[in-house]
Amino acid sequence: MKTIEKEIVIIGAGLTGLTLAYYLKKAGKSVLIIEQKERTGGVIQSVTENEFTYETGPTTGVIGSLEMAELFEDLQGKCTLETANSQAKKRYIWKKSKWEALPSGLVSAVTTPLFTLADKFRILGEPFRKAGGYPDESIAELVKRRLGKSFLDYAVDPFISGVYAGDPQQLITRYALPKLYALEKNYGGFIRGSIKKHGEPKLPNAHKVTREVFSVAGGLKSLMEALNAEIGEENISTNCRQTKITAEKNSFKTLFTDLSGENYEIKSATVITTVGGYALPNLLPFIDENKMKPLAEMTYASVVQVAVGYKKWNGIKIDAFGGLIPSKEKRNALGILFPSALFEGRAPQDGALFSVFLGGIKKPEILTKTDAEIARIVQEEIQITMGIDTAPDLLRIHRHRYAIAQYDIATGKRLESIEWIQKNFDGLILAGNIRDGIGMSDRVKQAKLIAESISAKKTEL
Ligand SMILES: Cc1cc2nc3c(=O)[nH]c(=O)nc-3n(C[C@H](O)[C@H](O)[C@H](O)COP(=O)(O)OP(=O)(O)OC[C@H]3O[C@@H](n4cnc5c(N)ncnc54)[C@H](O)[C@@H]3O)c2cc1C
Repeated sequence: MKTIEKEIVIIGAGLTGLTLAYYLKKAGKSVLIIEQKERTGGVIQSVTENEFTYETGPTTGVIGSLEMAELFEDLQGKCTLETANSQAKKRYIWKKSKWEALPSGLVSAVTTPLFTLADKFRILGEPFRKAGGYPDESIAELVKRRLGKSFLDYAVDPFISGVYAGDPQQLITRYALPKLYALEKNYGGFIRGSIKKHGEPKLPNAHKVTREVFSVAGGLKSLMEALNAEIGEENISTNCRQTKITAEKNSFKTLFTDLSGENYEIKSATVITTVGGYALPNLLPFIDENKMKPLAEMTYASVVQVAVGYKKWNGIKIDAFGGLIPSKEKRNALGILFPSALFEGRAPQDGALFSVFLGGIKKPEILTKTDAEIARIVQEEIQITMGIDTAPDLLRIHRHRYAIAQYDIATGKRLESIEWIQKNFDGLILAGNIRDGIGMSDRVKQAKLIAESISAKKTEL
């Protein structure tokens, strides 16, 4: 048994774990990341093959938090942020066998065939509609109440598929879309809230939160490699098996076995987990079963992500972020993103790269299909929606069983459990996408704030 002492142990080397370790190390802390896989990056991985550079997990992020913007500033020279070109502003929605652009201004909002005439008139009354008053209202209920059913079906449902691979009937607004919830709660409505917020004084660095779509030169994995290099290989243990944590008086022991069968014991005052709820019972066996249950049983949407490449593109014009497919249209794909239209070097000149995603909370059976079945489904989706009938030059399938945490009605109980566990086991922090948002910007924000609060606490002592 090898015994090591560290100030902080982090479980999981995805974006959350790596960002945590990066900022903690910068603040002078001794950290060790424990990762079960042979590589770091978690669900983020980019592959360059056959003249294409594609992602096997998330395709793009959004500069949606100050912390995300500042991480790229801090890593300047170590990796190169790529913001999408202006085509990213255009998004398509599939309706009645063709793509329709999502309205981006008043004229297109009036003329779009996506929404009914009645709902277009209805939106004029949105500022005067009464606020809800039901805290656990679903996104679907809120949108129907304030905007109308066609907005739910042809704007919000596909948006929720794109972000959560989820169901607006199941997701609770205050947990899944807290900013939207706050607009109604604090200002009485979406339009009123947006106008008032626009006029309010901004925080000094608010301009950095550009909401631009981003990737990184060479793919998102370059961000992970830059973090790895800054943290140092000696502070990251990959291929860790049978990891378990025991709670001692005022400290923790993290036990694991490496590939060669050697056992390790890491003593630390702080342990931060960044893994999914399903992985926590094995990791933290000392936590009361009832307190662990809301975490162990939390719902995740499965996603199958398929990279599809053409060396010579002869289909429809690809001049947008991508297209999303509403549930009502009953197609197999949830959406098709167009990375080669946004970033350089994703496909050969005159070629195209797509990221097709399938499954989600409404179609979990996709995970049980064979590669051949998925390839057939994807080719049919591309043929029908993108106007091409030749076989692609690249088709790579990636399955994610626990892709996206669902902030559904069980979220309240889960957050209570997290609070209870952290309060009763001082030094144990449960991070990751079990709370605080599922997007990359949310993950970086959570990680940086935790790192800052740990550094501030220890300085005070
Ligand atoms: C298919 C897909 C598409 C997405 N699309 C987008 C998008 O377009 N935009 C966006 O902003 N976000 C997107 N996301 C979400 C975003 O990618 C994630 O929120 C973020 O990358 C998660 O990082 P994380 O570190 O919290 O978790 P993870 O990346 O899951 O990392 C957790 C790590 O913990 C390790 N681990 C688990 N159990 C143990 C254990 N017992 N011991 C040791 N290690 C363990 C895992 O191996 C993993 O490396 C997408 C996610 C998926 C899956």
